[in-house]
Amino acid sequence: MTENQASETPTGVEVDRERGLTLSWADGATAAFGLEELRVNCPCAECRGLRERDLPVWPKPASPQPLRIEDAELIGAWGITLRWNDGHSTGIFSWDLLRQWRAPDAENG
Ligand SMILES: [Zn+2]
Repeated sequence: MTENQASETPTGVEVDRERGLTLSWADGATAAFGLEELRVNCPCAECRGLRERDLPVWPKPASPQPLRIEDAELIGAWGITLRWNDGHSTGIFSWDLLRQWRAPDAENG
């Protein structure tokens, strides 16, 4: 089940509850992800279903604003789960996925 684990495990994980997530890797790569980007691209089945039907993932009419991270929990060497101030917490952001969001040849800044 875990044969390819940890290939993209970052060496640095920084959670800023008001701003987002910053990762750094041993090869010197870094990537910053804003709160909204993370929330609207939440990889859980529920949010994926909404996106497939072209429905908004966030904000919903009852969503508290501004968006905020209430809590974050590392899932071993695999990824991170975020608990949002709208109560959503089912998405697990794997390091693989986050790294793929930032192509290695993307320009800096
Ligand atoms: Zn979700």
